[in-house]
Amino acid sequence: MIGTSLQGLRIVLVEPSHPGNIGAAARAMKVMGLRHLVLVSPRFFPDPEATALASGAEDILESAQVCTNLDTALQGCHKVYGTSARGRRIQWPASNAREAAGEILADLDTGDCALLFGRERTGLTNAEMDRCQVLVHIPTADEYHSLNLGQAVQVLAYELHMAALTAQPAQDVPAEDVPEQPAPIEDMEGFYGHLQHVLRRSGFLQEIRATRMMRRLRRLFDRARPSQNEVNILRGILTEIERWASKVDRKDQDSL
Ligand code: SAH
Repeated sequence: MIGTSLQGLRIVLVEPSHPGNIGAAARAMKVMGLRHLVLVSPRFFPDPEATALASGAEDILESAQVCTNLDTALQGCHKVYGTSARGRRIQWPASNAREAAGEILADLDTGDCALLFGRERTGLTNAEMDRCQVLVHIPTADEYHSLNLGQAVQVLAYELHMAALTAQPAQDVPAEDVPEQPAPIEDMEGFYGHLQHVLRRSGFLQEIRATRMMRRLRRLFDRARPSQNEVNILRGILTEIERWASKVDRKDQDSL
């Protein structure tokens, strides 16, 4: 059973260049009951064109959070969805807009989530997509896949609203059956950085395949959805491996 509230969902626009799209996104959100807009390094904001296109949703613009990097935008979220105008990309799990809306609604039961939208010209970078657990695609005609940014926000906001309207109200789950909260994204990023460092040091991770290997490992841990405690255990294991490796290094040097 999933909840019916979209509170806790952030709509994140990454480096939007046209202020009109920011306004259109705000309006698209407000009519569908979404409130939390985050702008990562917008080219122009605030801007009269954004205000004009928001038309009635100025409050969403006024309360929009403006950040200079994605880390700040995602802080405290436990799950990140990214949107892509291109269909299925082999290296990322993918959902269409309708499926994703249901999944997001269910994920919001466990805590805050983010839905990322890319730049008008180039979309999201691979590094930004690596921060997403799921890529969402709005199915389109075969010959042209790319919606205008504001319209893409509208389609997703509509699907989310419909999913919330048709969802069954959450039922009380006995306290002992409530799963541990998944770790927030920033803890997972700290873990991936640590894992990458240890895997490099051990010789396992070779530069030529590092990006793909880390992407696969991210998918593996995404499926496991570790809690904060579990991430702490994993980091504890890595720290002990590092200590042990340093001891081995010292012994090797002593015996030279
Ligand atoms: N040329 C870019 C298109 C960017 S369109 C590309 O190939 O990625 C700007 C943004 O609108 C995209 O980054 C995405 O967030 C959203 N968008 C546009 N069309 C979409 C679609 N069919 N499905 C999902 N998101 C889409």
